[in-house]
Amino acid sequence: MDDCLVVGGGVIGLSLAYELSGRALQVHVVDQGLVGREASWAGAGILPPARVHPDIAAWDWLRARSHELYPDWSQALLDATGIDNGYRRCGGIYLARSRGEAAALAGLAAHFHQHQIAFQRLDLPQLAECEPALAPLMAADELKAVYFAADEAQLRNPRHLRALVAACRQRGVRFSEGVQVRGVRRNSDRLVAVDTDAGPLTAANFAITGGAWTGDLLRMLKIPTGILPIRGQMVLFRCPVRPLRRIINEGARYLVARDDGLVLAGSSEEQAGFDKSTTPGVLNDLQQMARDLVPALRQAPVQQTWAGLRPGSIDGMPYIGRIGSLENAFVAAGHFRSGLHLAPATALVTSDLICRQPAEIDLSPFRPTRG
Ligand SMILES: Cc1cc2nc3c(=O)[nH]c(=O)nc-3n(C[C@H](O)[C@H](O)[C@H](O)COP(=O)(O)OP(=O)(O)OC[C@H]3O[C@@H](n4cnc5c(N)ncnc54)[C@H](O)[C@@H]3O)c2cc1C
Repeated sequence: MDDCLVVGGGVIGLSLAYELSGRALQVHVVDQGLVGREASWAGAGILPPARVHPDIAAWDWLRARSHELYPDWSQALLDATGIDNGYRRCGGIYLARSRGEAAALAGLAAHFHQHQIAFQRLDLPQLAECEPALAPLMAADELKAVYFAADEAQLRNPRHLRALVAACRQRGVRFSEGVQVRGVRRNSDRLVAVDTDAGPLTAANFAITGGAWTGDLLRMLKIPTGILPIRGQMVLFRCPVRPLRRIINEGARYLVARDDGLVLAGSSEEQAGFDKSTTPGVLNDLQQMARDLVPALRQAPVQQTWAGLRPGSIDGMPYIGRIGSLENAFVAAGHFRSGLHLAPATALVTSDLICRQPAEIDLSPFRPTRG
């Protein structure tokens, strides 16, 4: 029998499978579609700066511990699979063109200062040196505030997911794609099996990592959660050469340039149920934002557009822990805009729970039964 059946092969389920198989557990991942093709594929792969420090709150710890782990995970995945996941500590620029955005950045600066995270205010000559592509914006005298986060990083999530799958396979993880979990069988305080298109699947432990669909899975266990799909749309430009060195953040929107000249412009936050269509209005807004900020993008063709469903949660915190009174069923979901970032530390603490070892932090703020 498998030691753990992981239901959902996004970045959370794959990272968990990678960590558990690294601890010599036999793991089986099932996904209703193809693994690594939902929100985790759709994301931008921005890893904002974060740092572990004493008295850190649980959510900040997840970010900070993941931030620490990513360089090592990326190197280990490269060594094992030959796949470069594109982890780059490229730095991030934060722009404000209105007084409201400037006030929000001042708040962020205070938060980073408290966490001893470098977040340097830039004047215009410093900005010109840091990111020459923004020179026209400076000339237009539109900027109210600019900051630089040296420790911001990015990864190419489609490549990271491919690397995780390859590394999991090397460690003996089995994958079943196109297999939907439709029901559960429990016996008192134990989950015995899940019912799927391919018949019942048994395991010693079960981990629910179904992203935006996790609410449906937990309802089968009579656990209500506040997980809901939040759609985000994205535009991908192709440039002959990389036009930006840094990630550019403005409010909830951003530009992320990859090494090979691809530039992502994102994103929106929409409640549209499980509808993953793009809409002309949002795509036009994103293109305009990108081309206003970086004139080099005015000539760049749009290569692709898409939308993904973030697993939002009612209080902005993920759900991580044992499910209700079940002793062998666990959940890790609801990471909203930060699932790629938070995945390594989530995998660590969820693996600790599954291995019945004490977790590095108090996980009670993430308890699945909080509604
Ligand atoms: C446009 C956009 C930009 C983003 N940018 C960033 C970013 O820059 N940085 C960052 O950290 N995060 C970002 N995110 C958020 C991040 O992508 C998500 O938080 C993360 O991918 C969630 O991972 P997951 O594994 O929980 O979900 P998913 O990747 O959605 O995976 C869940 C999987 O579960 C499977 N599943 C569901 N129900 C069942 C079932 N009943 N049976 C079998 N399988 C099932 C699904 O098929 C799916 O493959 C972004 C998201 C979007 C949409």
